[in-house]
Amino acid sequence: MDYQQQILLTTVQRYNILPVTSHCKSSCIFCSHRQNPKSIRVYNFGQLSMETVNILIPFLDDKRKIVIGESATRLIEGEPFCHPDFKQILYNIREQYPNTLISITTNGNFLNDDWFRVLEDVKPIEINYSVNVLDFDLRKKVMGNAGKYPPSYIMEQFAEYNILYHGSIVSMNWLTGWHDLEELIMRLEVNNCSTIRIFLPGYTKFTHHTLKMPKGFSNKLCEKVKEYEKKYTIPITLEPIVIKTLKPQVDGVIRNSLADKSGMKKGDIITKVDNFKVLTRVDAFNTIKKKENPIVTILREGIEESITLNKRKGESPGLVMYYDIDSSLLDSISGYLRSSRSQKGWLFVSELGYNIISELVKKYAKGLNLELVAVQSNFFAGSIKAAGLLLLEDFLDAFKGVASRVSLSEDLIILPAIAFDHNGYDLCNRNYSEFEDLTGVKTIIL
Ligand code: SF4
Repeated sequence: MDYQQQILLTTVQRYNILPVTSHCKSSCIFCSHRQNPKSIRVYNFGQLSMETVNILIPFLDDKRKIVIGESATRLIEGEPFCHPDFKQILYNIREQYPNTLISITTNGNFLNDDWFRVLEDVKPIEINYSVNVLDFDLRKKVMGNAGKYPPSYIMEQFAEYNILYHGSIVSMNWLTGWHDLEELIMRLEVNNCSTIRIFLPGYTKFTHHTLKMPKGFSNKLCEKVKEYEKKYTIPITLEPIVIKTLKPQVDGVIRNSLADKSGMKKGDIITKVDNFKVLTRVDAFNTIKKKENPIVTILREGIEESITLNKRKGESPGLVMYYDIDSSLLDSISGYLRSSRSQKGWLFVSELGYNIISELVKKYAKGLNLELVAVQSNFFAGSIKAAGLLLLEDFLDAFKGVASRVSLSEDLIILPAIAFDHNGYDLCNRNYSEFEDLTGVKTIIL
C-alpha cells in the first residue's frame, strides 16, 4: 500500500472521514493551500473513483457521524458536491448505514433544487455551510466562484427542507465590510441555522501582505461578535480564541435543542454530571454526550441548580462550548513518567494552549514533576499559534532555549501528537524520533 492509500485508510478508520475529492473549483483568497511553501507535504488525490469509494465505505464506523469534506490528515479535502458521482456515494453510504448522521462540509456552490431533494432523502444529514460572504459579487471576489444560487436562497432552502445546518464564516470584513457580516448573521438566524462559527483568517510569513489582517482587526471583530451575541439568539463562536479559564462554561445553546428545552442557558457553569465533578469544558461536554438522561449540576449567577437533560446515550444535547482540554491528559502523562522512570516531564505545548494547560497542571497535577514549554511557530510564523501547525524544527528551537539553562538528560519530553501524522511525521516529513536522536533526551508524542 503506498503512502497516499495509507492516509486514505487512516482518514476513514481513525477520523470516520470519507475523502471523495481534492477538487473544489473555487479559489478562495484565504485558502491555506495557496500559501504553503513547497516543503509542506500535502496530497491532492483528485477525484476518487466510485470503485475506491466503495472499497472505503465499509471501513466507516456507524457509531460515529460520517464526515465528508473535512480535513484531518494531509489529504487536501475539496468540495464534495463537485464530485460527479456524489449522489450515488451518498445513497451507497445510506444503504450500508441507514441511521448514521452524515456531516458534509460545503461552500454550497454546486447546490441546486435537485440537491435539496436528495439531501432530504438521505437524512439524517448535517451541513456545515462555508458561506463566508452574503453579497453575491463580494463572494465572487473572496471565493473566486459564487455558485449559481446566492447564499440567501441556499439558506432558505435548508430551512424549507428542514435540513440541519451550521454556518461558517472566514471573516475578511476589512475587504467586505461589516454590513455584510451582520446581514449574513441575521439571514442565518431567520433561516434556522443551528450555530455560526466565525474564523479569523490565519496568515503565515508566506502570505501576501494584502491578505493579512490589518492591525486592530482582530479586536474589532471580537467586539462585533460580542455585539451580535447580545442581539441574536443563534450561538456564535469566534476561533481561534485564547480560553482564559478552565471553568466548564456553556458558550451557547442551540435553539430548540434538548439542552434548550431542558432550560440550560449560555453562561451556565457545569460543575457536576450525575454527581461526578467535571474539571474542563471537554470533560463536561463529553460526559454529558456519553450519558442517558444525565443530571447536570450548574452554577447560574452563583446559585447551584440541577437540570435533567433528557437524551439518549451518545446524542448531542445542543450545547456549544469552546474546546479547552481533556483532563485525562494528566493521567496519561503520569503513566508515561512512571513507566519511563524519568525524573521530570517537559510538556511542549502551543502558544494557544499554554495558559489553559498551565492552569490544569497547577490545579490538578500537584504531585507531578512536570514543566510546560510554550513552542512558537517559527516555520509558519504570522498568526499561527496552534499545535497542529508546529514542525519538528519549532520543537527543536524551543528545546535549545530550555537546554541552555538546565540539563534534561534524565527527563522525558512530551510533544503534541497532533503535530504529527499516523506514522509520526510532521508537515515537512520529518519524524518525531529525530528529536530524540538530535537532543539525546527520551521523547514521546501524546
Ligand atoms: S473552497 Fe476550500 S479548498 Fe477550495 S479554495 Fe476555498 S478554502 Fe480552498
